Amino acid sequence: MGRNNRSSGGGAKYFIIMMMIYAALTHCSNEDINLNRDKSNELAGSNIESMLEEVEQVTGIETSNNDNLVIIHAAINNSNLSDEEKAIVYSFADIINDNPYIDSNSAYSSIGNVDIFYVPRPDGTSETILGDFNFNKDIINIYTESDSLKRETQIHELLHCLFTNYRNVNIPVFLAEGVTEILVNEYFTPNPFVEESSYPYEVALTKLLCEMVGPDRVLEAYTTGNMNVIKDELRKYEGTGDATTFINASDRVLERLESGREIDPETYNYMINYLDTYFNNKYSDDNEKMEIYNYYRGMLAQIPNEDRYTEYWNYIYENGYYERAYFSSKLKLIYGNDSVRDNVSEEVNPVLKK
Ligand SMILES: [Zn+2]
Repeated sequence: MGRNNRSSGGGAKYFIIMMMIYAALTHCSNEDINLNRDKSNELAGSNIESMLEEVEQVTGIETSNNDNLVIIHAAINNSNLSDEEKAIVYSFADIINDNPYIDSNSAYSSIGNVDIFYVPRPDGTSETILGDFNFNKDIINIYTESDSLKRETQIHELLHCLFTNYRNVNIPVFLAEGVTEILVNEYFTPNPFVEESSYPYEVALTKLLCEMVGPDRVLEAYTTGNMNVIKDELRKYEGTGDATTFINASDRVLERLESGREIDPETYNYMINYLDTYFNNKYSDDNEKMEIYNYYRGMLAQIPNEDRYTEYWNYIYENGYYERAYFSSKLKLIYGNDSVRDNVSEEVNPVLKK
C-alpha cells in the first residue's frame, strides 16, 4: 500500500473493547494536502505579542516564555469550537511548552479552523472506533456517546489536529499513535504510566524507542516528520541490522495488528532481533536499561498471540509497570529518572479486557 494513500498521522483513535480491532484510516494524498493545507505563512505579519496578551487575558496561561502558545489564540477565536472544546485546547499549554519542535504556523491554522462533529458511527464501522481526525478536511468526528470515553477521544483527536502537518502526516502509524497516547496518558489520565484504553503495543514500542534514542529524538521525529533524527541515532549501535528496515518492519507488524491480520513471523522476528542486537550492543553494561528492555520485550512478545489484549493485561498484572515519564516535564520532576516498578492497583480500569 502506498504511503501517499493515507494520512497516518491523522489516523483514527481506537479503543479495544473487542478482541478484534480495525484500522480506520483517513484517505488523502499529499497533493491534496499541499493544495489545501499549506498555510505556513498564516502567522506572518501578525502581532504575536498582542495575540499572546489575549491568550493570557482569556485563559490565565502565562505566555511570556513561549511564542508557540499563540496556538491557544487560534482556539479562542475558532467559532466552530464550543467552550468545552476550547478548554481542552487551553489545557494543551504544558504539552506545547514541553515541545520545542512544534510548527506554530501549521498548528495555528489547524486549531483555528478545526470543527468537531458528534455523529453516529458510520454503517459498517467497528464499534472500537471512537472518533477520527481527518487532516485534509481539518475535521474531527466523535462517534462515542460514553461521557468518559468522549473526553479522552476529544483530547486524542485534538492532539492529532495540533501536531499533524503535511511534513509529518506520513510518519509510521505506530509512532503517531504511540506518542499521541503517551501524551494523553502523561498529561491527562489518572494513571499516566499504563496504557489502559487503546494502543498498548504502539505505546510499548514507542517507549522502547525512547529508551534507545532518547525521548527528545522521538518527540522531534513525531513533531517534524523527520525520521532521520531517530534513524541516525539507531545507526550508531545497530550491528548487522538496518534502521530503515527495522522502522518499516515495526510499522508493518503494528499495522497488521491494528487491522486484525495475521502477523508475518519474518517481519516480527526482524523487529525483535534488531531490538535484541541494539540493546546488547549499546547497554550490555547497563543493568537498569536491560531490565527495562526485557520488561517491554516481554510485553511485545504477546503480539503474535490471538488473545493479545487479554495477554497484555495478564502481563501488567504479573509484572507491574514502570513509573517512568518520557515527555511531561512536570511528571519527570515528580518521578525523576528512576525506573521504579510498581504493581497494578485497583484503580486501574482495564478497558482492554472488555
Ligand atoms: Zn489516533
